[in-house]
Amino acid sequence: MSRVPFRTVGELDAALVECRACPRLVDWRERVAREKRAAFRDQEYWGRPVPGIGPPDARLLIIGLAPAAHGGNRTGRMFTGDRSGDVLFAALHAVGLANQPTAVHRDDGLTLRGTRITAPVHCAPPENKPTPAERDTCGGWLRAELALLTEVRAVVVLGAFGWQSLLPLLAGAGWTVPRPRPRFGHGAQVELAGGRGPLQLFGSYHVSQQNTFTGRLTPAMLEDVLRAAAAAAGLTGTSTVRPRTGAGS
Ligand code: SF4
Repeated sequence: MSRVPFRTVGELDAALVECRACPRLVDWRERVAREKRAAFRDQEYWGRPVPGIGPPDARLLIIGLAPAAHGGNRTGRMFTGDRSGDVLFAALHAVGLANQPTAVHRDDGLTLRGTRITAPVHCAPPENKPTPAERDTCGGWLRAELALLTEVRAVVVLGAFGWQSLLPLLAGAGWTVPRPRPRFGHGAQVELAGGRGPLQLFGSYHVSQQNTFTGRLTPAMLEDVLRAAAAAAGLTGTSTVRPRTGAGS
């Protein structure tokens, strides 16, 4: 999808929240917002595309999958108000990239340090599964966002979907992506040359409940990736030392 160039990330976010390019996702996000989960029936759902969060001069970018139906699609902020976000923001706080370990609503005072979180698909999809066509359509937004985030030096990709969505966009933006393409895996690390300069790419299992409840992804595993990526991005600072209590802690 072709888009007029945006001058700022704020302009892009303001246009993004008006997007209705994917009929299936527009229908789903709005239906969920009308019907609501019983526990949230008194709340007004966002029910629109969910923009990225974090400063426009971020040096570290985190790429997820898509907003959760009753998380980001409810609160209007990425990873806010769901179990995936509980894990992600606790880890970001532990490594010094977030000012607080929780994210419950848009006005809860959360700020990220040098870090922006976005997604290849900005509307909640049924069963958390966007189609390839929806990924490609929304890819125009991520392409535009990448072009505006000129200070990014490292990217953490949460899950294979984000990894496979991002690599073609980076290649299109001038980075040299090896052939065959680097495989996604937890702990995968690749340096890409070209583009605006070296870019360090890190893979992590997604913070989905499927991964965190089973112990496939532990808080310590996620913190290790975030800490390495923050260092690669030149973000140094204080991190909280959290006791390691084993898998699933
Ligand atoms: Fe627009 Fe992306 Fe939502 Fe599709 S998924 S309607 S392209 S914001």
